[in-house]
Amino acid sequence: MAYVISDDCIACGTCIDECPVGAISEGDKYSINPDMCTECGTCADVCPSEAISQG
Ligand code: SF4
Repeated sequence: MAYVISDDCIACGTCIDECPVGAISEGDKYSINPDMCTECGTCADVCPSEAISQG
């Protein structure tokens, strides 16, 4: 299962530079493209809001 970003996202931008495959997109709330996510977990580790988890 790809990782997903919850409503706890504060759009800080921390995760977007960490994703090795560029699967994260900006927005009011950031989102992860499930077709690109390799489930590495890097984004979940860096999110200060703990808004990212495996969906
Ligand atoms: Fe990118 Fe890894 Fe997060 Fe998937 S789990 S969105 S590949 S950083």
